[in-house]
Parts: sequence; structure tokens; C-alpha cells
Amino acid sequence: MEKIRYERPLIFKMNTGLMNKFGTKTENEPVTHIESVPVKGLLKEFGSPLFVISEKQIRRNIQNATRIFKTRYPKVQFAWSYKTNYMNAVCQVFHQEGSWAEVVSGFEYDKALGNVGSGNKIIFNGPDKTDEQLIKAAQNGSLIHIDHYDELYSLIRLSEEHKLKPRVAIRVNMDTGIYPKWDRFGFNFENGQAWNAITRIINSENLEFVGLHCHIGTFMLSPNAYAIAARNLCELAWTAKERFGKMVQYIDLGGGFPSTNTLKGAYLPGTDTVPSIDQFADVITDVILGYGFKQEELPLLILETGRALIDDAGYLLGTVLATKRLSDGRRATIMDFGLNSLFTSLWYDHKISPAQKLGDQMEEMVMFGPLCMNIDVVRESITMPMLQKGDQVVVHKVGAYNMTQWMQFITLRPNIVMIDNENNTHIIRKAETLKYIEMQEEVPTHLKRSTE
Ligand SMILES: *Cc1c(COP(=O)(O)O)cnc(C)c1O
Repeated sequence: MEKIRYERPLIFKMNTGLMNKFGTKTENEPVTHIESVPVKGLLKEFGSPLFVISEKQIRRNIQNATRIFKTRYPKVQFAWSYKTNYMNAVCQVFHQEGSWAEVVSGFEYDKALGNVGSGNKIIFNGPDKTDEQLIKAAQNGSLIHIDHYDELYSLIRLSEEHKLKPRVAIRVNMDTGIYPKWDRFGFNFENGQAWNAITRIINSENLEFVGLHCHIGTFMLSPNAYAIAARNLCELAWTAKERFGKMVQYIDLGGGFPSTNTLKGAYLPGTDTVPSIDQFADVITDVILGYGFKQEELPLLILETGRALIDDAGYLLGTVLATKRLSDGRRATIMDFGLNSLFTSLWYDHKISPAQKLGDQMEEMVMFGPLCMNIDVVRESITMPMLQKGDQVVVHKVGAYNMTQWMQFITLRPNIVMIDNENNTHIIRKAETLKYIEMQEEVPTHLKRSTE
């Protein structure tokens, strides 16, 4: 039996785990299984660190969100936000559940085309679309959401030159009471830019004006902001119908619903504070249904929800590399994952559970990642049992934005495994290798290591 390691005794003032009505001991319960697959077995088979995605949970989330909206409004369409998580296996789960694709670059567009097969279920957003990409999207019948006047003029010119009739919408930005204002994307509502862009589209012979789009922010905590957004888009749709006799086919309210993660500095956990999807659905559908459109002209309601549908389906498993005492006496735990793989630790206090039963003694600690970089902090302060080298942990709700914003910095990126509905495991992205990283590199001849 291994001898219990000696830790020198230390006297310090207790200041951790300030009481709230939920108590303090939330992060000492071990999590030994994900969807009934043993965590230790996953780490043994696929290495540490390791991302794990539950297919079942993704399906529960999208089915739940669809039910919530469809019971309140007759025509609803979800479009999966690729940048939130564009692993093809993940995208295909959403597409199987009926979601279209929502992309914000030419690279994502091509990825979506490969996954969906046809262009008319792809929404092309974002400020960066080249002429070639615009032509391709127009030829494929994709929905092009125009971001700025330069793009609008390019599209008018391209459609004339290439005899195309692209299906377009504009992205609208507006004051929804959220500050700082998200006004760098799209055309502004209050100053008349949005209306001006609509008149130019309708007056151009070559563009087909099909919809109105907004994406008012991310991790939005105010359902009322969506009421304002829905009302403004309805007003534009109504005015266009009155003036030009043309009703848009759809209103796209973007994404931005929060997941149940806890924002840094929040007093209470996200699970107890973020509004539910029902609350957002209530205000959005109330506004559209109450606006005064005739039943047969009600627009399709599109939602591009990202993080709220995937965050809790993703886990990051990892291992303690070492523990140490900092100069001020605080305990520090060094993990084999850090900011490089867990980008969202910049925004969230991720819940972290031990993967095995540990002692009852809890202590506040700093949790660092493995990078040689001072900012590589996973949690500035977390109260957990005394983790030791080799102990393993489960980080919760990491499905959104980590597998797209991760950095290949200092270390290689790990395996991603999906647990399917029958609890079988599949690698959906292989751990990177030196060969993979160097594949795109070239060394000029005069710099090559001489071999004589
Ligand atoms: C990022 C993004 C989304 C998804 O946002 P979430 O906050 O993850 O729901 C949807 N639409 C657009 C245009 C986006 O840029």
C-alpha cells in the first residue's frame, strides 16, 4: 500500500465558501460515470486530457427546445451555429434532428455543405464573405444574411454579372437595453440604416428579399431583450409589407440563450439564475403572434441557438500533474489541461468534480493548467477535496466554443470521444500528433539540418 504523503501543517484564516442558501459543499461529490460509461475507463482507453460528448444529451436539448417553441408558435426552424462546435459528428446529430446550418465564414460554409449536402439549408452570416463565396452561396440557394453596405453592393453587382437571384436577408442591430451595444454587425435599426438597406434590396431587381435577422448578444440573461428584438424585426417586416406588398418568409432571432454555466464572479450558480428557454420562447412568440399578421402570413421563426444546446453535453476529463503551496500558503493544483483546451475558463467558473472518492477534507485551491504562462488558470478559487498527483477530475458543461476556440499552444490537442445513444464510444476527432502539426510547415533548403 502506498504511504500517505506528508503535508506540513498550516494555519490559515478560513475565508472560503461564503455561505449562501445552497450551502458550500457542491464540488466534492465524485462523478464516476458519464451516461453510464466509467470515467476512469474513458481516460484509460483514450488518454488524458479528454473531451467527451454525449449524443443523448444533445438530442435531449434540441428536442426539448423544439418542443418548447413549437407548442407556442406554428412554424419554427432551428439552425445549428457551427462556430459553437463544428465537429462533424456533432453537426450531424443536429442535422438529423432537423436543424439547418448557420455559418459565419467560407470555411464553415464548405464544412456545412459537406454535412448537409444541399445549400438551401445553410444560413450564411458574418462580415467576411468573399465574392467567390457569395457566388457559390447564391448558386446553391443558401440564405445570405447581409452584414454591411459593401456586401450589399457586391451582391447586387455579382448577381447582375452572373445572372443570379440570391435569397437575402439583412442582419439588424439595435438597442435592446444590453450594454455595451452590439452594433458592429449588421444595419442599425434606430438610425434608419436597416430600413434603407431593405429599400435598396427591394428596388434592386436581382435580389430576393426573404428574411430579417438579428443576433443581439450571447449568454443573454434578459428575455425582455428578445421581446424588443422581435418587435423591431416585426416592425420592419410590417413596413415592408405595407410599402412594397411583400411579406418576408422568415424572422431569424439568432442565438444567445445562456447555458447553465456560472459566469465568473456570479454569486449564485448558473443553474439557479439563468432564465429557461421557456421564458425566452414565451416573450418571443407573444410578440410575433400579437403583432397583427394574418395567420397565413406569419413568418417562419428561425433560431440559431448555440451554447444553450451543447454546453451540458460536453465534458473535459483530466488528471492532476502536481500540487504545491504558493508563497502565500494557498494550495495550488496543476492539471494536464488549461486555457489551451478550456478557453471558456476565461468566462466561467466551470464546475469541476473529482472522478473518484476522495477524503472529506476540503480546501480552497487555485487550479492551474500545464502551460508555461501565468494566465493559465482554470479556476482562481475552487474548494475541493485534497487532490493529489494522479487524481482525475471531470469538468462540466464545456460543449460550447471550447472545441472550436482551443489553441494548439505548447501542447497538442486531445481526443474527442462521443458516447452514442447505446453508450458506445467513438473517437470523433483524433488527438493531434507532431506530424499533423508540421504538415503545413516548410523549411527552406538553406535552413535544413545537414545530414552529412
Ligand atoms: C455565435 C452566433 C450564434 C450562436 O450564439 P450562442 O450564443 O452560442 O447561442 C448564432 N448566430 C450568430 C450570427 C452567431 O454569430
